[in-house]
Amino acid sequence: MVASMSQRITHWVDGRAVDGTSGRTAPVFNPATGQRTAEVDLASVQEVEAAVASATAAAAEWRHASLSQRSAVLFAFRELLHQRTDELAAIITAEHGKVLSDAAGEIARGLENVEFATGVPALLKGGFSEQAATGVDVYNMRQPLGVVAGITPFNFPAMVPLWMCANAIACGNAFVLKPSEKDPSAALFLARLWQEAGLPDGVFTVVQGDKVAVDAILDHPGIAAVSFVGSTPIAKYIYERGTAAGKRVQALGGAKNHALVLPDADVDMAADAVVSAAYGAAGERCMALSVAVAVGDVAEPLVDAIAARLPKLTVGNGADPDTDMGPLITAEHRDKVAGYVEAGEAAGASVVVDGRTGDHPQEGFFLGTTLLDHVTPEMTVYTDEIFGPVLSVVRVDTYDEGLALINANQYANGTAIFTRDGGAARRFQYDVEVGMVGINVPIPVPVAYYSFGGWKDSLFGDTHMYGPEGISFYTRGKVVTQRWPDPATSSVDLGFPRTR
Ligand code: NAD
Repeated sequence: MVASMSQRITHWVDGRAVDGTSGRTAPVFNPATGQRTAEVDLASVQEVEAAVASATAAAAEWRHASLSQRSAVLFAFRELLHQRTDELAAIITAEHGKVLSDAAGEIARGLENVEFATGVPALLKGGFSEQAATGVDVYNMRQPLGVVAGITPFNFPAMVPLWMCANAIACGNAFVLKPSEKDPSAALFLARLWQEAGLPDGVFTVVQGDKVAVDAILDHPGIAAVSFVGSTPIAKYIYERGTAAGKRVQALGGAKNHALVLPDADVDMAADAVVSAAYGAAGERCMALSVAVAVGDVAEPLVDAIAARLPKLTVGNGADPDTDMGPLITAEHRDKVAGYVEAGEAAGASVVVDGRTGDHPQEGFFLGTTLLDHVTPEMTVYTDEIFGPVLSVVRVDTYDEGLALINANQYANGTAIFTRDGGAARRFQYDVEVGMVGINVPIPVPVAYYSFGGWKDSLFGDTHMYGPEGISFYTRGKVVTQRWPDPATSSVDLGFPRTR
């Protein structure tokens, strides 16, 4: 299943692979070798319309599937995903570049969402109020929206689609996925697993594409809701255009996640955590810690401890089990990240470890681990989301100064505090204006039965992704008020109905 030279990556419509007809394609690379391994079809407006027509027909049937039938498909899908994790991980590594264990990790976190969705009979249970008024009962239910779409980023080609599709399908919708054109094969692998699990054709659709396909999804009157994960400018655009077209939209954007390291923290533990979260997946995670805010005296030992760990990390092909960190997604992105390091240095930051000259393979899109100290808030290396293996250390004198810095940032996806002081940690969780908080936990991605989402420019819309908020996003509520009066007692009453 791993892409080979000249492989064509197609759409998936009505339960089968469908070649594109637009005449437009985009190249797919193996970032570890720099080789162009495949061409992915890019859908036209007409191809999106054909895919949505198939999904619409499937949605009309799928909403009738009983809760236990839907749950059975999810259990089967869960088993297949579990059994075939290694195969899917190899596909992810070949197109994204992350190491195999990390690819398996993203599948495991996606799988959690499938497990959550197997509980759909309990998740969709409504309430019932007997005798709300005399002889009157009231109860509620949640019903599917119809066809819903997901538009996903390159950095989690399996996990992010699974955040969305498991709950959307469990709730009785048909789901149309527009994956990133940079690593599109994982989506097709998921499509085949859904089919094998017994999902009716057309309930899970893959439309490959770029802005043309995205705009066609946003404008299509037959799509009721759009879930998006990607960069902030595009998230804002998706939210504005999708809601203007009358859709529900949840659009998760970029991030700049800070670790606040207090003077009482265990320096070695904090350094291990920060290094893991800054450089894992070469920093291409929306929950990557890209800024360490060192409070007071902890700065010197923390920078030393981080710097001491970096030469021990092996940078190379993610398919090699000895590799700790793989390449970046494209050559352009690698050069952009290196440009930020250059700008930081020119603006006065000290380059403690320089990944531009690192000991890594020359072919492929590699950049070594980079550590910048004495970064200040006006430098672009601080203000912008870099999405690469670059950690900036900002030194502050007090906890309050560190908190104010974090709260002033436009992004508010995740943050973490490192301390042995429970009181300080509690104060931080209360005061910090960020959607996901770790206490001595560097990557606080909530488990599948909570919901995932940031604040401010990290999320547009009012619903977080997956968990209880995901179930609510993919359904609409209906409340029924019923009575069964004796026709003999019936009369005309023009007054507004009272409950007594
Ligand atoms: P991106 O915004 O470039 O692309 C995301 C999706 O939008 C892709 O499917 C892409 O095809 C589409 N797209 C790109 N440009 C478009 C345009 N002009 N019009 C319409 N659609 C367009 O993001 P990316 O580079 O694939 O992913 C990295 C970004 O995603 C980072 O900013 C990262 O922080 C963010 N991200 C956020 C979360 C989160 O949960 N908040 C999770 C993962 C990634």
